[in-house]
Amino acid sequence: MRKKIVAGNWKMNKTHSEALALIKEINQHTVNDEVQLIVIPPSIYVSEVVNLAASNNVRVGVQNSSQYDGGAYTGELSSAMIKSVGAQFVLVGHSERREYFKEKNADLALKVDQLINDDLTPIYCCGEVLEDREAGNHFNFVKSQIEEGLFHLDETAILKIVIAYEPVWAIGTGVTASSDQAQEMHHFIRTLLTDKYGNDVANAISILYGGSCKPNIAQELFANSDVDGGLIGGASLNAQDFIAIANSF
Ligand code: PEP
Repeated sequence: MRKKIVAGNWKMNKTHSEALALIKEINQHTVNDEVQLIVIPPSIYVSEVVNLAASNNVRVGVQNSSQYDGGAYTGELSSAMIKSVGAQFVLVGHSERREYFKEKNADLALKVDQLINDDLTPIYCCGEVLEDREAGNHFNFVKSQIEEGLFHLDETAILKIVIAYEPVWAIGTGVTASSDQAQEMHHFIRTLLTDKYGNDVANAISILYGGSCKPNIAQELFANSDVDGGLIGGASLNAQDFIAIANSF
């Protein structure tokens, strides 16, 4: 059985005291054992959040990592540093990193390698912009993101990946992909994985949906056979909404 995962990307939100208050509030709730809850705070708070989250079996991720081992790369965080503070997941290629920081699939492939070498789990983000969907090019667009960012991995390594499909037109816009649109793309991604790695591997990889996922729509999205959970932005900043989403399976 694939893991069900609900991960909250806090992006560049919350002061120190607000971040600690949020994880403490999340800790007060219980979530079905089958669901792995992950919080992804700004890096500066990660150590403290790791310590607080452990009591409730909530895991912690980081929003970005370097493709380099270490050294003279001002402002960057290496995978070894991330591991050393107890974080276990790292977002790779979130659309905001791709758009504002010009991250390319080839850079992301290097980041993925660093993380896997350090036994961290990359959450590899993909998803088309609106123009690509309107032009009917969305499948090809996502295909190249998956192939160029991930398909250099062997079977053992790809099994360490979580994929997040996040249509860019749905992120932070309040426009959620329909349940059918999500299932169609998730199935397409799983078929790419099947063609490259076979059924057993493809069926073991969790594919999360992201893009304006809120408590009122989560249940419908998560009911799809290829949707294994969510990567949640805005709604993860509120403990009750985040927990309601995690309890939507
Ligand atoms: C995200 O940033 O990954 C995301 C899905 O954001 P939102 O839920 O706010 O659309």
